[in-house]
Amino acid sequence: MNIPQCDIGLIGGSSTLSIALPEALGLNDVVVEKNGMVFNTPFGESPEFKIFTIQGDKQAKRVLTCKMHGWRRGVNRADASRQVFWIFKNAGVKRVLAEGGVGAVNHLLNPRDLVIPHDYLDSSLRKDVGLEDHYLLIMRDAICPQMRRTISEVCSENWDGRVFDRSVYVNTDGHHFESPSEINLFRMAGADVVGQSICPEVYLAREIGACYAGLYLVVNYAEGIVTPWRHEKLRELFYTESCAIGSLLMQVIRDLPVQKDCGCSDLRRETLLKGIY
Ligand SMILES: [Zn+2]
Repeated sequence: MNIPQCDIGLIGGSSTLSIALPEALGLNDVVVEKNGMVFNTPFGESPEFKIFTIQGDKQAKRVLTCKMHGWRRGVNRADASRQVFWIFKNAGVKRVLAEGGVGAVNHLLNPRDLVIPHDYLDSSLRKDVGLEDHYLLIMRDAICPQMRRTISEVCSENWDGRVFDRSVYVNTDGHHFESPSEINLFRMAGADVVGQSICPEVYLAREIGACYAGLYLVVNYAEGIVTPWRHEKLRELFYTESCAIGSLLMQVIRDLPVQKDCGCSDLRRETLLKGIY
């Protein structure tokens, strides 16, 4: 099957897992072109992809989306992420938008706050995740400043809760959550939220020359922060806010300027280690 060409990749995370995105939103300006596309990649068979167009009042945009953040039964997370970004690369994707649920490490955050990270700390053990190793990847401004600006504007206008236009996201391995001592360490290191999806995606986006940014719903306090979290509240947030988060993502896609004014593409250079790779 040929991989369709498009500019935008959307990775659905835990906040929209329970709905069919974008169909569940019932938007008049969205047309799903094709659903259930599975591709062979050098890293195994891909998850199911969907391609849709969104019109808005500006230029129509074509979006390739899948529903996972590297969690698939029987596939290790490194390969699951590599499959998605190999598809994005071959689709010509230039911007990757992500969403997910996170835990509050900063004690000023509350469940249902929205955060737009500007930086990350990778505490996972999956550092050696790439597609080709042709590039020196500079992780300064790793999360696209232009995309962050659009996400922040859309969320501030449309979300009936608090929106934080910066935060440091610490990435852990999962599947388990973190211990109170680990969270305390992350807090002292400057983390604001904890989750399990931004890495290795942020590296892979840089490698394929795409901008990367996301919006994240705080769904619980991390261990040892403020008060023990409740499973019912976590579940409630995942299910009740799915359409609201999906709507924000669609508005971000509508509003993203077609012309890039960020420096992301300058932060991928040819590797200096030729002969080794
Ligand atoms: Zn950028």
